[in-house]
Amino acid sequence: MTTSGRDALHIGALCETPGVNARQSATTVDRSLLDGVLAVVRELGGSSELGEALELIVGAAAGVLGFGAAAINVTTPEGDLRVDAVVGPPGVEELLGTRRPLAFWRELLEAAEPWGELRFFSHERDQSLVDQFTTWTPPSPVGPEPDAWHPEDSLLAPLWDGERQLVGVLSVDQPRTGRRPDIQQCTVLEVFAGQAARAICDAQARQVAHAHRLEVESRWRLAFEHSPTGGALVAPDGRMTQVNDAYAAMLGYSRDQLVQMTFADITHPDDLPVNIQLFDELIAGKRDSYQMEKRYVRADGGVVSALLHVGAIRDEAGAVQTIVSQISDITGRKLAEERRAYQLTHDPLTGLPNRVQLGDELSRSLAVRQSVGVLFCDIDRFKTINDSLGRQAGDELLLAVAQRLSQVIPSGCTLGRVGGDEFVVLAPGDYDAPKLRRLGDKLVAAMREPLAVGTFRPTLGVSIGAAASVSWHQHPDDLMRDAEHALLRAKQHGRGLVEVYDPHRDHPSTLEDLQLEQALRLAVDSGEGVLAYLQPIVSLVDESVVGAESLMRWQHPERGLLLPADFLPMAEDSGLIVPLGWRMLELSAQAAASAAGDPKRGEWVAVNVSGSQLGRELLPAAVRRTLADNDVAPHRLHIEITETVLVDASQQAIREVREVADMGVSIALDDFGTGYSSLSLLRDLPISVVKIDRSFIAPIAEDRRTAALVRSVVAMCNALGISTVAEGVETREQLALVRAFGCDHAQGYLFGCPEL
Ligand code: C2E
Ligand code: CA
Ligand code: CA
Repeated sequence: MTTSGRDALHIGALCETPGVNARQSATTVDRSLLDGVLAVVRELGGSSELGEALELIVGAAAGVLGFGAAAINVTTPEGDLRVDAVVGPPGVEELLGTRRPLAFWRELLEAAEPWGELRFFSHERDQSLVDQFTTWTPPSPVGPEPDAWHPEDSLLAPLWDGERQLVGVLSVDQPRTGRRPDIQQCTVLEVFAGQAARAICDAQARQVAHAHRLEVESRWRLAFEHSPTGGALVAPDGRMTQVNDAYAAMLGYSRDQLVQMTFADITHPDDLPVNIQLFDELIAGKRDSYQMEKRYVRADGGVVSALLHVGAIRDEAGAVQTIVSQISDITGRKLAEERRAYQLTHDPLTGLPNRVQLGDELSRSLAVRQSVGVLFCDIDRFKTINDSLGRQAGDELLLAVAQRLSQVIPSGCTLGRVGGDEFVVLAPGDYDAPKLRRLGDKLVAAMREPLAVGTFRPTLGVSIGAAASVSWHQHPDDLMRDAEHALLRAKQHGRGLVEVYDPHRDHPSTLEDLQLEQALRLAVDSGEGVLAYLQPIVSLVDESVVGAESLMRWQHPERGLLLPADFLPMAEDSGLIVPLGWRMLELSAQAAASAAGDPKRGEWVAVNVSGSQLGRELLPAAVRRTLADNDVAPHRLHIEITETVLVDASQQAIREVREVADMGVSIALDDFGTGYSSLSLLRDLPISVVKIDRSFIAPIAEDRRTAALVRSVVAMCNALGISTVAEGVETREQLALVRAFGCDHAQGYLFGCPEL
């Protein structure tokens, strides 16, 4: 402000001047002026800074339009108008920043004479306002012409925004011609005013947006910094660029340490692959956010469970600028959940899995058709012990039992407690009856060693029922029930025993079963209806018949001819297999006698002997008598015993087999491959024939592994001087293969079915 106390831009005395209607003549702007205006407009397009734009406009008002002074007032957030740009004679810049109330400007524009969009302020006519308005009057002479410019005249261009609110005023003074502006000048001034208004509106919009952004940012920052949940900003490369106190505290690192790390550095290795995948999908734009439960590894090595919410902030092109993560510690909740789950699935006394947990494990195995054995163990007379010792000691005893059993079960097995004195072992893997029995025997034996309960050294008996999964087991209860059935039998048979589930023995027999058994008993007693069918066994050298296997058939009075599968399990169960077996021995010896000298019938007849016929000191005598009665040389009889029977055989049974072999009767190891294929059997027993089970021959042409197995079994037998029979040969392809493998003999429908 100058000392004169008067405003800058209103000059001189009033002239009586008619208003100029700029719009009507706007087309008459001459070329050079137009070029000047265009240059200014172009230059304005390149500047985004308001001060710069306004400077340019006042400069142009002076330079292009030829005014001695020009100024732009701009509305302020406080509601005033303030001089933001000014050009003119020396000293005039001091007006920069001068403010006037908006109301004053409205009054002034109202009072001024409308020249189209412009207003002409005439010193003479608007005398009443002059005193408040003018603060500075440049010295300038007033010419004699009627339209001469008075020093206190002013031409004003109100600047409006889109809603016709006043955002500023552009004013010019002191035309260098000394005359009031002509129509061209007015038109151009309007153009400049339009440019100025736009520059002001743009800048104000930018300011509002900026202020808004600042506010949002500061509010967000406040929330981020002080949030009770963890927060982190993560760069697209995974580095953490900013973290809050809660996050740092949760992980036990300082904020400075964390911003040196990537999220992968602190993520639990087990959760990392999923986390990285989600993060990559976020970066790739496949998702906008994700949520996951994950574990972090704290600075001290501890593990924190957290719920993570992640969102991406993208630029206009869609590229991720930063990633915002919110992390809530849910370790407490997780621990409580785990504790609850543990209580639901474990026995509180021993800490062993309970029935629920064992059921889950079994379900999982059954679902993927993984074979599994179950051993249901029940402590004999535990109730008596518990009652006499007292509860406390009873508990200690159970703990000792749990400990003992868990020491002896093979690795990979699970021990659980399912009731007061009931324990269950889950044994994943292929368990057949002998294998289950062996495992059960091991547990029974382990329990016979005294336990330590205080000073007391009790030994306990345990009864075990075992069962293995079969294809129709769908629910764990099916398998558990089978094992429990077997357990029942073990207890009935005198405790301290292992019994393996057997569908024929562990299911109450039906009337039909009883009738069948009755009929078989009659057949055995009368010797009628039991038949020996013969199936040829051929040499693989020339396919000539070398012998025959005698296979049992039963001509049932009502049902017709029955196969072993129809009645053999019942015969085994009822013990009828023993007299049936002797009958077959007799029939086979007869067949061998009648075949003598017939090259089409071969040299020998092989008869099957059941495990039940062994161990009773009966076999050698029966064989000797039968051979003698039928006048058959020992080498014309073979005895087939299945591998599984021999694996389980008692010493007595083995002695009997030896004795028979010593007579010159060949012993064939039947169904080789279905049991343990124990090499020690081949070494220790006088076995002269191995019959490779049909289940190995059937897939031999398709399955290279099976073929390799058969080839090596044959090679091994050849090396031991044991002859081999391939069972169940049905195709020429199978024949060619077993022949190529060096097998000696073959049996199967390809060469002949069992016939009377
Ligand atoms: P095994 O000792 O393995 O007898 C061979 C079985 O395979 C016979 O079934 C025979 O008919 C069948 N077989 C032979 N060639 C082929 C073939 O090419 N394809 C197919 N799919 N099967 C073929 P079978 O007669 O039903 O006898 C079944 C089982 O019953 C015998 O198996 C044997 O374990 C038992 N068995 C039969 N007779 C007696 C017997 O007198 N005493 C005893 N203890 N068990 C017997
Ligand atoms: Ca056989
Ligand atoms: Ca066989």
